Amino acid sequence: MKPAKFEYHCPATVDEAIALLGQYQGEARLLAGGQSLVPMMNFRLATPAAIVDLNRIPGLARIDAADGAIGIGAMARQRQLEFAPLVAQQLPLLTEGLRWVGHLPTRTRGTIGGSIAHADPAAEIPMVLQALAGEVAVRGPQGERLIAAADLFIAPLTTALEPDEILTEVRFPAAPPGSSHAIEEFARRKGDFAIAAIAVMLVRDGERCTTARIATAGIGPVAVRLRDSEAILEERGLGEQAIAAAAQRAAELVEPMADHNASADFRRHLTGVLTRRAVLKARDRSDVRTG
Ligand code: FAD
Repeated sequence: MKPAKFEYHCPATVDEAIALLGQYQGEARLLAGGQSLVPMMNFRLATPAAIVDLNRIPGLARIDAADGAIGIGAMARQRQLEFAPLVAQQLPLLTEGLRWVGHLPTRTRGTIGGSIAHADPAAEIPMVLQALAGEVAVRGPQGERLIAAADLFIAPLTTALEPDEILTEVRFPAAPPGSSHAIEEFARRKGDFAIAAIAVMLVRDGERCTTARIATAGIGPVAVRLRDSEAILEERGLGEQAIAAAAQRAAELVEPMADHNASADFRRHLTGVLTRRAVLKARDRSDVRTG
């Protein structure tokens, strides 16, 4: 299939891109790596009147560390981040999550901003953004605003961004000293979208679990945090019984989708199994961040 007719624009600045979005009143789409948008256009699932190409705008792919946070430009390629030493050192959960995203060719073009803005329910990067309590900076005609991960994902393929806003930067708190992480995923093949995935970050002080973060992908309509399960670990620690209770609570909490890949019941079952495995893996990992 080929895309429906569209006009193409290649602005040199974010402000120019914002003006073009305003001109098309919601009928234009931003082009980043094209790994989701172009297939959707080819299948006529998206028929924008115009494409506003972000690939020629300088300064949208930087990786900066400041004030205990890591700022990543929206156009940073997944492959660039996969091998970025600063990301591996400060955001090891993101490095691990990126390795589950598609395949080498898709990661070479696909961007972090595109994956988040596309908001596929099965995407790993939104899950990591939730697990690390990150946020995004977006710019539109009214200026810049920050949207926390918890407020960003509304429904499948739907975020809180306005049609005339551009996601310019993704911000993550740096992983704290004493933290460890893990991702467990169930997919048909490595590189396929997740049928169910769980990302975990733990901060420990001896046997105590001072911070637990558990987030999902592929299970419900959007990536979510499993806060009740996190509270169980923070209150009761990381013994087998507490982990089993947190996993059971996770399975009760989710609102699983049913589709050709899996029934809702199977996704609910997977949630409990993957939560237990991911928490145990993060607990027993030796590469605890030392700060
Ligand atoms: P694009 O396709 O260019 O854009 C996606 C959407 O986001 C569009 O609506 C676009 O308008 C909007 N957008 C893009 N950038 C911005 C911005 N800065 N501000 C506002 N809106 C923006 N993903 C996974 O997570 N896991 C997988 O396992 C996986 N497997 C894949 C397998 C294949 C074969 C393919 C082709 C893709 C796969 N993907 C997977 C998707 C891939 O990761 C894409 O990179 C990602 O979903 C979109 O990133 P992109 O930069 O290509 O965005």
